[in-house]
Amino acid sequence: MLIVAALGGNALLKRGEPLTAENQRRNVRRAASALAALIGEGHSLVVTHGNGPQVGLLALQSAATPETESFPLDILGAESAGMIGYMIEQELANLVSTKSFATLLTLIKVDPRDSAFAHPSKPIGPLYDEATATRLADERGWAIAPDGDKWRRVVPSPRPLEILEVSVISYLVEREVVVICTGGGGIPVIACGDGSIAGIEAVIDKDLASSLLARQLKADMLLMLTDVDAVYVGYGTSDQRALGEVTAAELAGHNFASGSMGPKVSAAIEFTEATGKPAVIGRLEDALYMVEGRRGTSIKAQPPA
Ligand code: ADP
Ligand code: MG
Repeated sequence: MLIVAALGGNALLKRGEPLTAENQRRNVRRAASALAALIGEGHSLVVTHGNGPQVGLLALQSAATPETESFPLDILGAESAGMIGYMIEQELANLVSTKSFATLLTLIKVDPRDSAFAHPSKPIGPLYDEATATRLADERGWAIAPDGDKWRRVVPSPRPLEILEVSVISYLVEREVVVICTGGGGIPVIACGDGSIAGIEAVIDKDLASSLLARQLKADMLLMLTDVDAVYVGYGTSDQRALGEVTAAELAGHNFASGSMGPKVSAAIEFTEATGKPAVIGRLEDALYMVEGRRGTSIKAQPPA
């Protein structure tokens, strides 16, 4: 089976953990062992990942010296995908000696008129108290928004429309290479009038980008690996209920948090409705069981009437 496995930000860094190389490597190692189990079962794997904390940190580092100009977000996104992809590739290769691996930068077309550019919503970088976030927003021209009881910088998150390297990724997958790509949701680019492309300042949601990739690759399954064991209705309330197997239509009838479960559910619905194949959302450690349908929330297309 060809599986597109999307690693959540927490697979790389647990909430509240300082972003050090050592912490990242420990978490990546944990993720690699869950992914290695899928390869061990004979599945073909394409690995994608988020970059929220990492791209925000790179932005801070890039702006840290007054003498140097800060890099735009598309370039920082490419840097973050190199950094994280390198670690994933290395840790996976250390566990699986029978496969070849390739980490690829992935350019994704977005619409410059996407309404997301006027409404920044994607949190990146560290958590701040309100006063610090407000000061930084003034000093640096950031948009900020609450994230739990803290505040974070937010940037535009346009819809991914087309993955430019999909034929290269397919070529590698057909040759049994394990590909790590669409890091941080891919690098957002726009088509210019003269046929060229240019980067644009944004961070694409990695679940929506992974869903697009899975559709373009005609994958058999989209696996979204995070820190919660299932999709819940009434999440956080006293009568929350975990969903096992659901149809896209059933899920579409509920509301999910926009910054976290919402994009995963949308990504799952878009994949399953386009391909008829399942999307599964659950905990990283349960990856193998999720593929077997024994854990997580499995989303399927509506069976024909
Ligand atoms: P990732 O980095 O893996 O994309 P997110 O933080 O974006 O992780 O999404 C996973 C989080 O979504 C969980 O930690 C959980 O707290 C939150 N969440 C919000 N609504 C729900 C829900 N309805 N069911 C399960 N988890 C939810
Ligand atoms: Mg997320």
